[in-house]
This record gives sequence, C-alpha cells and structure tokens, in this order.
Amino acid sequence: VNFGDQLVTPEEKTQRVGAVFSSVARRYDVMNDLMSGGMHRLWKDRFVNRVKPRPGERILDMAGGTGDIAFRMARRGALVTVADINPDMLSVGQDRAADRTIPGLIWQVENAERLSFAESAFDGYTIAFGIRNVTDIPAALREAHRVLKRGGRFYCMEFSTSDWPGFADLYEAYASRAIPRIGKIVADDEDSYRYLVESIRRFPKPPAFRAMIEQAGFVRAAFEPMLGGLVAIHSGWKI
Ligand code: SAM
Repeated sequence: VNFGDQLVTPEEKTQRVGAVFSSVARRYDVMNDLMSGGMHRLWKDRFVNRVKPRPGERILDMAGGTGDIAFRMARRGALVTVADINPDMLSVGQDRAADRTIPGLIWQVENAERLSFAESAFDGYTIAFGIRNVTDIPAALREAHRVLKRGGRFYCMEFSTSDWPGFADLYEAYASRAIPRIGKIVADDEDSYRYLVESIRRFPKPPAFRAMIEQAGFVRAAFEPMLGGLVAIHSGWKI
C-alpha cells in the first residue's frame, strides 16, 4: 500500500499514519486554521448541516480526532461517540470538550477497520477527513454499514482534486509547496504535512469512491462537491 509516495506494508502504513497524527496532535487545530485560511470551519458547518443530527440520535464520529465534527453534532443534542485510532488526538479533543463544557460525548480508541461496536448500534456514522488515512478503506466502509441501523445514514467528507481550470494548478502549487512549509514552521514537522498532501492526491475521485460506498452495501450513494471539488461530501443509506 502507499504511504505518501512510498510503498509500505499495510501494518507499516497504519503505524506511520499513527506517528503522523501523534506528532501533529497538539498543533492540529491551529494548523487547520492556517492551512485552510479558516475555511475548514465552514466546510464542517456545511457537513453537519447535511447530516442533520437530531436530539437523542446515536452518532458515531469515526476518525473524530480533536472533536470538531462531534462538538457540532453534540450541540444539536445528538449522543456522539468520538472514535479514533490515535489516543493523542482524542486526548486533545477531551481537553477541548472540557474547556467548552460540551456534554454527552463518549471518547473511544477504535480502528475504523475493526470496530468493537455491536451491529445496528448507531443512527448515523460520520467521518471527516479521516477515510483517506485508513489503510483498508473497503473494510472501514463495511464496518460503517454493519454498525448502522436500518435507515441509518453514512456521511463522509474528504478532500478531492478540483477540476476548476486554473484553480487546480493554484491549489497544487499551494498544497505541495506551502503546506509542508507551514507544517515545518508551526508544527516543526514537514514530513507529516508532505504525507497529508500526498494522501489527498492519491485518494480516489468522487465517482470511484461512490462506487466503493455502494460496494459496502449502501444505497442512494451520492456526493456533493464543494469549491469545485476540492472537498466533497459523500453520503449513503443502509436499508
Ligand atoms: N475528523 C477530524 C477533523 O475533521 O478535524 C480529524 C481528521 S484528521 C485529518 C484524521 C484522523 O483520522 C486522525 O485523528 C487519525 O488518527 C484518524 N485515523 C487514521 N486512521 C484511522 C483508522 N484506521 N481508524 C480510526 N481513525 C483513524
């Protein structure tokens, strides 16, 4: 499998992705603001508007990291389980939740490929900017399907590559040069940010990813491109 532009074993990829997020955890939130010019907040707002969490619904926020998506859903009264493979990311998230006194959150270390939850445990499954870091994506999608109830919905937000002429080139230059530099200055970690950019480049295009979602058993799979496709919201239903 690929880790950035290197070929590694699946175990090694999972381990190295772990090292990336342990390394960036403390600087993760400030880096998101810097790299996206604050735009990630708007993308996340839009994402949660699409999910439409209702009070009392059980939602699994997979690869939930420092909690940005979970907080937005909990504020609307959903019962959110924040699950992530990386304890360092979760621990930053728990500190943030305590600062903001956001109630109703459960934090749990989980690998998206093999969840410890029972079948049909959740009304909704969300994963934002997480799936491209998972080593075995089809396995994670099958697990998402398994833990959802019938009528449950799957939502995934991920980077993609834009097809707006001009914008794509501009983005490419920004991503490959500026982001690793910002990573070096702010988080003293150029390589982690180089990996993150490379993983965006390698992630399947929305139609191909939609096919993977369908293959996992979801119906009415669809995607909504934002910013000319730089970011896309994917969704599907379990029936
Ligand atoms: N969802 C958060 C957000 O939008 O800010 C965090 C996104 S962060 C870019 C990606 C997260 O995916 C990291 O916290 C990382 O630990 C997690 N991750 C990577 N591989 C994973 C896996 N196999 N299972 C669960 N989480 C994983």
